[in-house]
Amino acid sequence: MPDEFAKACGSLDTPCRWTMWNLEGQEMYLYMLMLVASLFLFGRLWIRIQLWRQGQGDLPFDQPVERLRRVLQYALGQSRVLRDRVPGFMHAGIFFGFTALFIGTALATVDQDIAFKLFDMKLLKGTFYRFYELSLDLFTLFFIAGLSYALYRRLRQKPAKLTLNTGFNVVLFQLWLLVLTGLLVEAFRLAVLDDVIGDTWGRWSFAGWGVAQVLLVIKDSDSVWRSWHQVFWWFHALQVAVFIVTLVDSPLKHIIYSPLNIFFSNLREPGHLKAIDLEDESIEQFGVGRLTDFSVAQLMNGDACTECGRCQAACPAYLSGTPLNPKQIILDIRSSLNHYAGNLGAGLHPAAQAAHTVNPDDMPIIGLEIDGRTLLSPDALWACTTCRACVYECPVLIEHVDSIVDMRRHLVLMEGAPPDLLGNTFTNAERSGNPWGNRDSRLGWTEGLTVDVPVMAEKKKVDVLYWVGCSGAFDPNSQKTTRAVAKILTAAGVDWGVLGDEESCHCEWARRGGNEALYYESVMPIIEAFNQYEFNLIITHCPHCFNTIKNEFPDFGGNYTVVHHSQYIAKLIAEGRIKPDYSQNGNEMAAAVQQITYHDSCYLGRYNDEYDGPREMLEALPGVKLVEMARSKDRGLCCGGGGAQVFMETHQTQPVNMVRLTEAVNALNGQIPEDHTQAPREVGTQLKVEKPGTIATACPFCTVMLDSARQSISVEDIEIRDVAEIVADAL
Ligand code: SF4
Ligand code: SF4
Repeated sequence: MPDEFAKACGSLDTPCRWTMWNLEGQEMYLYMLMLVASLFLFGRLWIRIQLWRQGQGDLPFDQPVERLRRVLQYALGQSRVLRDRVPGFMHAGIFFGFTALFIGTALATVDQDIAFKLFDMKLLKGTFYRFYELSLDLFTLFFIAGLSYALYRRLRQKPAKLTLNTGFNVVLFQLWLLVLTGLLVEAFRLAVLDDVIGDTWGRWSFAGWGVAQVLLVIKDSDSVWRSWHQVFWWFHALQVAVFIVTLVDSPLKHIIYSPLNIFFSNLREPGHLKAIDLEDESIEQFGVGRLTDFSVAQLMNGDACTECGRCQAACPAYLSGTPLNPKQIILDIRSSLNHYAGNLGAGLHPAAQAAHTVNPDDMPIIGLEIDGRTLLSPDALWACTTCRACVYECPVLIEHVDSIVDMRRHLVLMEGAPPDLLGNTFTNAERSGNPWGNRDSRLGWTEGLTVDVPVMAEKKKVDVLYWVGCSGAFDPNSQKTTRAVAKILTAAGVDWGVLGDEESCHCEWARRGGNEALYYESVMPIIEAFNQYEFNLIITHCPHCFNTIKNEFPDFGGNYTVVHHSQYIAKLIAEGRIKPDYSQNGNEMAAAVQQITYHDSCYLGRYNDEYDGPREMLEALPGVKLVEMARSKDRGLCCGGGGAQVFMETHQTQPVNMVRLTEAVNALNGQIPEDHTQAPREVGTQLKVEKPGTIATACPFCTVMLDSARQSISVEDIEIRDVAEIVADAL
């Protein structure tokens, strides 16, 4: 026993960290190796940060407590990763194993080089050291199990959503070897010391001790075990050095970048697009068309992406065979950054980099060709429904929708190149205040209605202002919803009114379609119209209207309390102000037990976290049996109509509304697949309705999309109706 150990720990009977056992005098080489590796790592990291900083603005440091909370929840707590059980636990094994071993190594260094050398004391001693060893061995096993399954998954199962390249396999194998050699180093030490500590505290390192027992069965001499210990110890140290040197450029770079990305993530409300100040005449570039138009945080996104493919698996546009893959969008941003790194003077001294002349126009990104591949193609950008399924799934909080809309803004505002049909719809909205160019009165839906529809121009002051929206005013199918809401409000004795012909389209869809100018011009007169009257709250049956008035109008000076009709009607039922009862009106169809499946609207659900209101409404109806689809609530599948898709023609090999209709019919038939994340295998013409029922919606776009799928394959015995219509039937 060397003097140093005796001085620190007393006798070998005392559990105590014997740092650098068998390597006395070799610390200096280790420290030099780690110093060189760390300098290399920080140098590469610094260059990368300089590259990100070529983007617009600065990294945000506001609300630091909330940002740290996010890091705790999403990075340390792995909350999104764990949503998918098997891959989630696999990653958790790797993550927590890696983190525990990293902390353990850091603690051993502090123990030896600070506590002992400077203060003559040991931290890793006694009971604490026993639990330290026990925990590290436990996490070593989790780590090995996670890595082994990850390798098996990549090499044998090959899930389509993963990036299945050699780079990932190599780094996983590298980690696997790293942890295995660490275990062997421990085992050789315990084999040599077995006589003295094996029966006292050696067994607390149970994994290493187990391997040591196998070595002892082989029965070689201590001197041989000591030699192997040194060989494996240095091999392990070299592996650590290689890991550190390659980290910022390896597929594992997300270890560094993901927590940073989470910390700097967007704190805006989910439904809230960043506004452009169109009145600022100094702005010459709208949207993102060149690399340096992205924000610093957007450029960081590409490096933070783990390539897990969760966004790809959830994306309705990818599912339906369009060129859009949200994962690829983020990776294309990274490829563009790498492509232009030379232009940006990557690696230069800050002074030289500042003097480096960069012409942003030399760095276009949309449709950029690299190695025969087209990056960020307009077709891909125009295929997005803005459903936010990708954003909701992303474990590192990347905001794909913001980047896609930013690039659409460039295509529309700078290049004047929206898709033809969308361009025509912009013109309709500019000329007539609605997407269809309809010049009829917005009160046409009131014809033949048995209830009075109060108009604000006459009433001036009401409790509830009902925002009807363009679909509700003009689309014959949506007019049924508008009439149903009018009937419900009247039956509940609500003091309500509508703007009538003072309403016009807010052009939220145009905003998602990149036309911020049209949105801005449309919103301001609406706010003026609202501000003429007195009301307590606005209700709307369209989640797109709901989202934009509630979350986006405040940026333009319009602050109102806004409620979706499903939330409001659920409240009217809960308060007993309406009592749905089918026997009241002798409706035979409705009097029978109704099987209903509810389709979640993205703009109500993922954008505004409202899943219960529509379900509560339906469950309050006598005789209703509510069944859930395979994908529902926060993981509901988009109908395919959002993000201005309803006004575009996107080529889809498997239309997403058809996929969704199939999921709905399967739910009504009682066939819920085990793997909820996969689209049904048989879509469309094979659909057989075994149990008739209703698909309830809470959005006019969803109703239109699902109904068009139903009509195209003539599915009978299925009704597609807004929740308000279903309730109004029972009044
Ligand atoms: S918002 Fe929806 S459609 Fe657009 S990329 Fe994300 S998942 Fe795909
Ligand atoms: S963007 Fe997010 S969800 Fe998509 S692959 Fe990257 S890390 Fe995974």
